[in-house]
Amino acid sequence: MANLAFATALLRHRLQLLGSFLRSRDRLRQPHAVDRGTLPEVGIGTGVRHGSICRGPLAYVTLRGSGHRRKVGYDSQSDGLANRVKDGGMAVLDLIPRAEGAELDNGEFDETFDVVVVGYGFAGGVAAIEAADHKAKVLICEKMPLAGGLSICSGGAVRCATDAADAFAYLKASNAGKTPDEVLKVLADGMVNAKAYVEQLVACVEGAALKPTEFSGKGGGNYPYPGWQTFYHTQVDVPPTFDRAKHFPKVRTRPSSGGPGMFWVIDTNVRNRGIDVRVSAPVKRLIRTASNEVRGVVIGGPNGDRRIRTRRAVILACGGFEANEEMKRNYWEGTPVLIASCRGNTGDGIRMAQAVGADLWHMWHFHGCYAFKHPDTDFPFALRVKRLPDWNPAKKNEADVKMVWIIVDQRGRRYMNECPPYCQDTSHRPMHFMDSETMSHPRIPSYLITDERGRKTYQLADVRTNDHQYAYDWSEDNTKELELKILRRANSIEQLAAEIEVDPLALKSSIERWNALCDRGVDEDYGRPAGTMMKIDQPPYVFGQVWPTVSNTQGGPVHNANQQIIDIAGQPIPRLYAAGELGSSFGHLYLSGGNIAECFVTGWVAGREAAVLEPWG
Ligand SMILES: Cc1cc2nc3c(=O)[nH]c(=O)nc-3n(C[C@H](O)[C@H](O)[C@H](O)COP(=O)(O)OP(=O)(O)OC[C@H]3O[C@@H](n4cnc5c(N)ncnc54)[C@H](O)[C@@H]3O)c2cc1C
Repeated sequence: MANLAFATALLRHRLQLLGSFLRSRDRLRQPHAVDRGTLPEVGIGTGVRHGSICRGPLAYVTLRGSGHRRKVGYDSQSDGLANRVKDGGMAVLDLIPRAEGAELDNGEFDETFDVVVVGYGFAGGVAAIEAADHKAKVLICEKMPLAGGLSICSGGAVRCATDAADAFAYLKASNAGKTPDEVLKVLADGMVNAKAYVEQLVACVEGAALKPTEFSGKGGGNYPYPGWQTFYHTQVDVPPTFDRAKHFPKVRTRPSSGGPGMFWVIDTNVRNRGIDVRVSAPVKRLIRTASNEVRGVVIGGPNGDRRIRTRRAVILACGGFEANEEMKRNYWEGTPVLIASCRGNTGDGIRMAQAVGADLWHMWHFHGCYAFKHPDTDFPFALRVKRLPDWNPAKKNEADVKMVWIIVDQRGRRYMNECPPYCQDTSHRPMHFMDSETMSHPRIPSYLITDERGRKTYQLADVRTNDHQYAYDWSEDNTKELELKILRRANSIEQLAAEIEVDPLALKSSIERWNALCDRGVDEDYGRPAGTMMKIDQPPYVFGQVWPTVSNTQGGPVHNANQQIIDIAGQPIPRLYAAGELGSSFGHLYLSGGNIAECFVTGWVAGREAAVLEPWG
């Protein structure tokens, strides 16, 4: 009987293979689904309105058809969108614009500030506070209706260090020569001062405190590079009266996440200083002189564009390009890579900096993991797999939380350590492999496989988003996801193989091999720590497709130790600064908590440097 079941499953698999070959051949013959348009010329961009559609590049568009379901798409140019609206009888529900470039100063301005900070996440907030404390008149412009960026969705853990020389040694080794020493030195020194800085911010907020260090995550860097023992995390503790659902009703995070509390502390400091904050105020273009000195910005808004003069400088703190599909396709091998948290980060800082000649770095590098997709194709965010504790390769035997799943590729073969030292950061990397014989990416998507015991062990995924329109809460026992078919069940390996269209013999051998390795307590194939291993032998099997996912990008404009953006000739672009993950220093292996530490350090450097510049004119 067993042989007959296998023979049937094998035959079904062969037929499925033929079917998918024919389908993919047909797909290749179809025109590209996305209207790519053409990129605007640097220095041009009129912001002319066309019906209800703001002309110019758009990153994200939500349309609704008469009586039909909503459609969502990414367009490079609104002209493509205009045609779709005209031809399809659709109405525009939601537009997220992208910045266009730079234009020449024509001497006309609507308002004047000393410093404009573009983007309001942690980096923008800290840069604004620091500039205001140096007596600058500051404006923060946030593109989205809600502030917080992806910072507010984060764990809020700030990487700190007890010794600057050790921190520098670690950062130097873990960046593998991709970031200059002087830039890393500033970050290392800053990590030593970061705890005191957060303490100062917290002191101004009634009821807020610092979490005791021992409860702020395990000490030590993620990898055993020189100096790794110097690191620890700092997080904010909120008072019991702090109701995050009331303060940030649209934000979804784990209850223990420190991001909302940290943003509350930063925002209170911003408000206390009377800093002007505008939301739904996208910065669309830089304004520059003929000699490329930055003089201001053009911002959009409900009443049309406004030209803002910046007497001292512009600080770009507008995040990365997690939500710019075109840039992700260009810079990364695997596609698609899902976004985790914030639709506002569409690479605007990169485009605007490029428009005034900036050089770029670290564009390939992103912080991410693997995640499920929501079946509603409108839903823009990834459903990231559960975050298990990180482990340091020097202390591998201390990893002791079971990971209840394995990952297999589209041939049913296991191919990676599903639980690498910092799963939330590097686990997407093996997924980008291209098989040049089949000319395909057989690991995108992959399949996560567990069993009924695994399903009952814990919530398999969660969602961390900051969005005015979309939210989803993963159920604690994973049953809602079974109903939604994000997860599915199969009673036998043969049925599972048929469902995911793989060779049943290959899948059977992968699962049996995994269970044998669990019995031996050693993952001889991919080195997963023994303490994380759990057999998959209690059907029904539970499975779902998983995709590489970006939490945040590291690439962007090159900056020097003063956070000045550097052009392709190696010179600072006058009056233009970067802060936060936009052009992060992390160019090789990320350090957990490092991006938020960087928001603080680069925010305070850029804020101070911008504020003390001599004003022009
Ligand atoms: C789920 C999750 C957990 C994380 N946990 C941690 C952690 O614990 N520790 C850590 O160090 N890192 C963590 N990270 C990474 C870290 O949170 C981010 O790298 C960091 O917060 C980015 O801050 P930022 O201020 O540079 O950008 P953001 O917080 O993303 O802010 C950028 C803002 O700029 C706005 N913007 C974009 N374009 C424009 C424009 N043209 N005009 C105006 N505004 C614009 C965006 O809408 C956005 O609000 C995490 C990331 C995720 C996704």
